[in-house]
Amino acid sequence: MTKIVSCPDCQEPVIIPDDNETGEIIECQNCGAELEIICLNPPQVSLIVEEK
Ligand SMILES: [Zn+2]
Repeated sequence: MTKIVSCPDCQEPVIIPDDNETGEIIECQNCGAELEIICLNPPQVSLIVEEK
């Protein structure tokens, strides 16, 4: 079952693919932010802030 979370950065819905697991990194399809999956049930992600 496809899981959807709100992007912590842009608040747009982000789809977590079925084959992703906790600890994996996904990308927000809207703003390109990198999000770490911290929990799948309930789906929760954490915004990864890149240091420049
Ligand atoms: Zn976003």
